[in-house]
Amino acid sequence: MSIESRKQSLHFFYSKVVDPLGYKFTPDAELMDFLLEQEVTLEDKHGTPFCPCQPLTPDRTRNMRIVCPCIPFHRAHFDAMKRCWCGLFVHKDVTDPDSLPQVSVKELGLE
Ligand code: SF4
Repeated sequence: MSIESRKQSLHFFYSKVVDPLGYKFTPDAELMDFLLEQEVTLEDKHGTPFCPCQPLTPDRTRNMRIVCPCIPFHRAHFDAMKRCWCGLFVHKDVTDPDSLPQVSVKELGLE
């Protein structure tokens, strides 16, 4: 499968998963395309579309919590920011993703 067709497949699948969670793809098309391409590359290498912005570790359990879309595992944090870490997904009401700050779990008191 080509990179482009795999990106389209992931886009289709992810849309179905994140929609009932109240999320959508970022309106920043360039960022979306870049991140999906990174995920296809990670999937080629590891067999799984891991998060492009989180490091893999020797801890398999931790790694499974950063398989995209990882929203269910980090829901409280992402809901507070209205975005996921990478910014691939944002809350449905977001029109300006650049206005959303990254806030740490600690700052939010979620630790
Ligand atoms: S932070 Fe976003 S892009 Fe990264 S795995 Fe989680 S949902 Fe996917």
